[in-house]
Amino acid sequence: MRYITFIYILLMLLLSCFVSLWKPEYADNSLPDSPMESIVIFEDIPVGLQKLLQAYPDFVDSVEGNTLLWKDGTRMTFDDGFADKDFGTLLNAPDLEDQFRIVYTKGRRYYIPERNWDPGRIRYEPFFLKMYGSSPDEVRKNLMPVSWLPGTVNKTLMITSVNGVNQKLQAISNELDAMRHLHKYINNPSGTFNWRRIKGTERLSSHSFGIAIDINVEHTNYWKWDDPREERFYLGYVNRIPMEIVEVFERHGFIWGGKWFHYDTMHFEYRPELLMNDPLNEVIWN
Ligand SMILES: [Zn+2]
Repeated sequence: MRYITFIYILLMLLLSCFVSLWKPEYADNSLPDSPMESIVIFEDIPVGLQKLLQAYPDFVDSVEGNTLLWKDGTRMTFDDGFADKDFGTLLNAPDLEDQFRIVYTKGRRYYIPERNWDPGRIRYEPFFLKMYGSSPDEVRKNLMPVSWLPGTVNKTLMITSVNGVNQKLQAISNELDAMRHLHKYINNPSGTFNWRRIKGTERLSSHSFGIAIDINVEHTNYWKWDDPREERFYLGYVNRIPMEIVEVFERHGFIWGGKWFHYDTMHFEYRPELLMNDPLNEVIWN
């Protein structure tokens, strides 16, 4: 009996060692997590709707059941009732709820993204068209200049003023200006506003809405340049952009394309709703 107890304890010890050794793969585990921003959650309203309310107070007013009410009276359905969308359908025919299906991890400790883990690439287009403009001219009317790295490069970039995005990008620019050791990654940004469809799709790029910026092409990696075969299981994640840059952007409401399975490490876009953590922090789709 004593022998069996001994074997049992030994097995338990081995198992606990194994469990503590097995950890998910972080892209950078040398530094601690960024502080989390939490929101107060009301149980009877879907979390995604609450995040939209808090992230876009200039436009959205309230919630009525499954419907998001805009200040101008527009109503948008949150959940279209289709739960079993595959990845292609999530990209091509999402609803507002689907935008939250893939969780964006804030901070420098993030998992190397698994297949199709692209938080932020799911965009319910009518929401963005309504907010930022439904044609190139409409979006263009809202663009305002931002001085990029004002004390050094001082390049003018045009970005939307809707939701104060221009002020946020200016704040990012001012902060990064003082971080000279990072300038080789950001001193020659390759674009902001550009009304275009994503190549090979009917979907508009987030650059169409004037909410996105690509930093220097040099030192960046894009999955399509590295391996254009979309159906490959593992794309071979690569990133050379320092996380200090990413953290500055995230602090001002921008997500980073470097946290996508279909990585695009030069790309940042204004998506504050995805940077709000919540106590549930559920991964709905995988
Ligand atoms: Zn981009």
